[in-house]
Amino acid sequence: MSENLEKQLGFGTRAVHTGNEISTETGAIERPITLANSYALPYDASVMNWSDAEKNIYTRNGGANQRYLQEKIADLEGGEDCVVLASGVAALSGLFFALLKSGDHVIFSSVTYIAVYRLLNELFNNKFGVETTIVDVSDLDAVKAAIKPNTKLIHVESPGNPTLGICDIRALADIAHENGALLSVDNTFCSPYTQRPIELGADFSVESLTKYINGHGDAMGGSITGKKEYLDIIRAQAQVNLGGTISPFNAWLIMRGAVTLPMRMQKHNDNAMKVARFLKTVKGVSFVAYPGLEDHKDHEIAKSQMENGFGGMLSFGLNADHDTYNRFVSHLKVITSAVSLGHAGSLIVFIGEKDERQYLYPEEFHNGFFRFSTGLEDAEDIIEDLKQAFEKENLL
Ligand SMILES: *Cc1c(COP(=O)(O)O)cnc(C)c1O
Repeated sequence: MSENLEKQLGFGTRAVHTGNEISTETGAIERPITLANSYALPYDASVMNWSDAEKNIYTRNGGANQRYLQEKIADLEGGEDCVVLASGVAALSGLFFALLKSGDHVIFSSVTYIAVYRLLNELFNNKFGVETTIVDVSDLDAVKAAIKPNTKLIHVESPGNPTLGICDIRALADIAHENGALLSVDNTFCSPYTQRPIELGADFSVESLTKYINGHGDAMGGSITGKKEYLDIIRAQAQVNLGGTISPFNAWLIMRGAVTLPMRMQKHNDNAMKVARFLKTVKGVSFVAYPGLEDHKDHEIAKSQMENGFGGMLSFGLNADHDTYNRFVSHLKVITSAVSLGHAGSLIVFIGEKDERQYLYPEEFHNGFFRFSTGLEDAEDIIEDLKQAFEKENLL
């Protein structure tokens, strides 16, 4: 496809075609997996820059399948450039490592993936002298108040894992840029089908490709999409020198998974809405956190920045004690108790009242809750499975 034509094509068409080409060697209409660690050197190898991430030299510097996937993700996110790495956390740590130095200040959301909390609040802070402030980023005044002259980065999730908190990405991008800082958004709960942070003004969209974009629960990967001037630095540091390279096989699997992202994501979004509405009718459910519900505190903001629905993730609590949560899970037949999200199958995790970050969550989360990844099963079957488990515990 020519560059110009590509720009006019819809999201679904680009999910299918971008990054793929007919093989000039064999005529195969799908690009092959290239597992080789090393690529042929030019006549005079001594002139090579061994840290070059642009040429195919050595797979840690970047290889064929990684590049195809980068092309697809950059296109779907609406970004200039992309680097794909071995996991979502490799992408997050690579971004922080490449952008931050001691003496810099970072503001990050009170609701983030656990590794972000560990990386910024413990490792970068204690080992590398990076200052950190944890802020409820749904409160824009609190974000403004936390800005310092050395603030370099604001890092957020919307919806946030695990409370489904929403923050205003456009407004946060303005605050960051007015103060000479950058905004990174972990977009894992949405995928670019449901939200595109770069189009909303963010500098970086980070994805755990492990989740919706691969979608089949069988490969790990992460991506950072943004401007080339930053991506060049991130690629050199996080990929070539830190060594967070994704395997060609996983890049290929994720490339294949991403082809059906729009269809899968639409079903995740539709199913989650149905499950959330069902949970609202259950007497034993103490609260349901889903940005698609009108009673979500930031439903209007979610509506203004999300498309095609509100994601497949939700959280809910029970009017019950600790043991009831465990028994409830043991009654489930269709839904599996497992971490991760964005798989074909529905997944549930009991997050107990001992979670060390409870103090950062809204009050209703303090007595324990479930995080639920709505799968691609028929919504009626997911709801029926929940219903029979509620019934067994007299919660319906
Ligand atoms: C899973 C997840 C990550 C980490 O991704 P991995 O691929 O497991 O390393 C980061 N952010 C969010 C929001 C996640 O759900």
